[in-house]
Amino acid sequence: MPIPSRRPVVEPAASSTRATDMITNWLPAPDARGPVTCDRCGCRLQQVGVEVWRHFPSTESDQDARGCRPVCVDDEHDRFGHVLETAPLH
Ligand SMILES: [Zn+2]
Ligand SMILES: [Zn+2]
Repeated sequence: MPIPSRRPVVEPAASSTRATDMITNWLPAPDARGPVTCDRCGCRLQQVGVEVWRHFPSTESDQDARGCRPVCVDDEHDRFGHVLETAPLH
């Protein structure tokens, strides 16, 4: 019975994986357009749908996460921070 030849154990090239690669693996892709901010109060908005952004919620009603009370706090915004005119207000 032939003795199987021992092959050298190939070590995984751990050093070839840079830390930056590991970070970008789990971070969301950076938005080339930059963060979307409200046109009224300048707060950052969170994307809640396709081309739809809203203010970050606050524990207080009618108030965004930074404490502003813009009229658009409960409205939907486009990528430019403008309020989407989805329904007539009057
Ligand atoms: Zn707004
Ligand atoms: Zn604000």
